[in-house]
This record gives sequence, C-alpha cells and structure tokens, in this order.
Amino acid sequence: MHPPIRIRILASGSQGNAAIVSLRPRDAAPMHVLLDLGLSPRKLCGALAVENIHPLDIAAILITHADADHLHGGWSRNWPFQHAKVIARSAHHGAMVRAGIPATRTLNADPDADSKHFFPHIHCLALPHDVAGSTGFRISTDGVALGWATDLGQMSNDALAFFTGVDALCIESNYDLQLQQRSSRPDFLKQRIMGGYGHLSNAQALHAALHIHGQRALRHIVLLHLSSQCNSYNVVQELWHAHAPELAKVMQVATQTLALPWLCVGQPRMCNWSESLFVSQR
Ligand SMILES: [Zn+2]
Repeated sequence: MHPPIRIRILASGSQGNAAIVSLRPRDAAPMHVLLDLGLSPRKLCGALAVENIHPLDIAAILITHADADHLHGGWSRNWPFQHAKVIARSAHHGAMVRAGIPATRTLNADPDADSKHFFPHIHCLALPHDVAGSTGFRISTDGVALGWATDLGQMSNDALAFFTGVDALCIESNYDLQLQQRSSRPDFLKQRIMGGYGHLSNAQALHAALHIHGQRALRHIVLLHLSSQCNSYNVVQELWHAHAPELAKVMQVATQTLALPWLCVGQPRMCNWSESLFVSQR
C-alpha cells in the first residue's frame, strides 16, 4: 500500500530551502511538486536526479515567498521546469519575475484565485512575514494532509484552523528566545525577527503543534528553518521532551546540509517508495 503523499525535505534554513512532494491521488495521475526553490539549480536538479525525477516531471512549484533563501538567484539563468506551474500569492509575483520565473507559468495563490482550479489538492494561506508576507500550504488527497508553514512571525487563529487536521506538520522553529535575546545581533534585527512579522520561536512552534495535535493527532512533525546562531538541535529536543514528550516521539528536525529521508504522510514511519511507480508526465 503506497501513501497518497510523501515529502523529502532537501534543505531548510537561512542558507536555502527546498523540498520535493510526491502525490498519488487515487483519481488522478501521480504528481511531483516542489516546495520553494532556495537551492541552486545545480544542487536542486542534482537532488532530483538522485530521486530519478526529471525537471520536466515537476507539475507545480509552490513558493512561500521570494527571499533568496526560498528563491535562489540562479534560476534566472536556468529554468528547466518547462511543464510546471508556479504557485505564489500576487504579492510575490513581481519579485519572482525579477528572479527569472516566467510570468506565463505563474498561478495566483490569493484567496479565490485560479490555482485551485488547476490543483485542487493544494490550498494556500497568507502568513505574516516582513512586508510582502509568506504563504502557508496545505496539500491533501485521499484522506491525508500535509501542512507547510515557514517564515511566519506568528501563528494566528486562522493559521491554526488552516493546519488543523493535517497528518504531517512541517513548521518553522527558528530561534530560542534566550539565545536570541543574548545574541550579539543588533536590536533592530532582533525586533524584526521577534516582532510578529519575522520568524517563529521554538516555544511558538511547540505551542502551535500542541494546539493542532489537540484537535486531531499529528503523526509527523518536522521543525524547519532553525537559526544557526540562535538555536540548536539539542535546545529544541530539550524543550520538546520537557513539555511534549509524546509529541517529541514523532518530531524530527530538518537541517541545512542533510536531506531528511522520505516521509510518508499518514503512515507512522519513513517510507521506501519505489520511483518506478511513477510514470513520466513529459
Ligand atoms: Zn527563510
């Protein structure tokens, strides 16, 4: 039995973010999706090749926002995803065109916009992050759902409701409050990060996960975008084991340098899903 959704997070952090999501809807063809393009073309296409996925097989690319760690500048010189639609909120379209993404490939992810008609399995939500904001994604099919929330300054009630019911929650856990406050960063930067329009702290991510888990059990949690300066794997583990020991058992941490194994959404373990099951869409 193969899972309807699986995800492989290739990299997460301020130096670059990207993930591959593969869907196998019962009523439609298999589909490969990318979440952010924060790696260079060489690195990302290399990672796809390892998975035996051709760039022309990518059906959709979801862009959370257009910062360089989510949209690498190298794509302006190399655009191999000729069959893909790029889904992003209109607030980011200008920056995306400047980054070299063909405007003709872009779909509007604003509420009631056109992307829903092309990709009914993908839902989008505006999240607070700097001036243009970020976008959260919920990908669901055949009774399972994946939530993706990174680069957001706060988790509103609307965002909690949007992600409630997912089986796998991938959520930013950027900084430890004390490490941030004691860091040598200038005050304006600390304020930008912690002021509600920057990044989620470890405690905020844990609180959000507990709330969502309380509505319906989470089977996987992946913490994203850990700060290399104001956070660490051990700090996160200590927090979760102290305050949510049961949830800590299904939590893992994405890193900047090492791709996580494929995660099968809705199933308890990592999966070994044969690539031969995918038929090329090109
Ligand atoms: Zn970022």
